[in-house]
Amino acid sequence: MTSKKLFLFDIDGTLISPGGVSRGILGKAISQETGQDVELGYNDVAGFTDRSITRHALAKLDHGGLVSESLLNTILEHYVDSMKTEFYHSNEPFIYEDCITLLEAVENAGHATCILTGNMKSVSQIKLGKFGLWERFRFGIFSDDAEEKSSMPRLAREKAWDVLAESFRLENMVLVGDTVQDAEAANENGCQSVIVCRKPEKRELIQAEKPTFLVDDLSDQAMIRTILG
Ligand SMILES: [Mg+2]
Repeated sequence: MTSKKLFLFDIDGTLISPGGVSRGILGKAISQETGQDVELGYNDVAGFTDRSITRHALAKLDHGGLVSESLLNTILEHYVDSMKTEFYHSNEPFIYEDCITLLEAVENAGHATCILTGNMKSVSQIKLGKFGLWERFRFGIFSDDAEEKSSMPRLAREKAWDVLAESFRLENMVLVGDTVQDAEAANENGCQSVIVCRKPEKRELIQAEKPTFLVDDLSDQAMIRTILG
């Protein structure tokens, strides 16, 4: 007898690669609203939420200490507007086929799935919609729901009850992600995790967080057999 699990899929670096497109657009939105040059690198964004990325960027400028919520909201609105056209038309983003293999295996085994991401809901819809993946998930937890990833698994558990009328034990929830923060969020909540190492230089840091599985490829059959258990 196996129990049904809830798999929580991260977006950037896990289901799709946004290339540098979304962080470029967010950087531009911050620059335009503050009049100061801002460039966001991989380490400024990976594992964080849209809101916390923007808050940190503003704190680094001379808006430090007094990051106004209205400026933050204006920047994020500007970001969403630009994403709608620029992300959709860019050919830089791509889908990670290994993650789709895992997603299919999870679905076929009858487990539940949802999105757990630092992106805002509107941005998630743009990113996943480009690849026909948005409709594939019944619900998600987004940057609009929580500013830090660590509080997201419990929110996902509540939402699973609202949307699916199913109750999952935290240990039967599996975070599928690509960053240290994803492994951390799983561990802090007593969830399992499957972390894919997309950047070899990050392997040691991720390993130190002791995810349940750390793989180079999400279609790894031994991992899939075990995690579907
Ligand atoms: Mg990610």
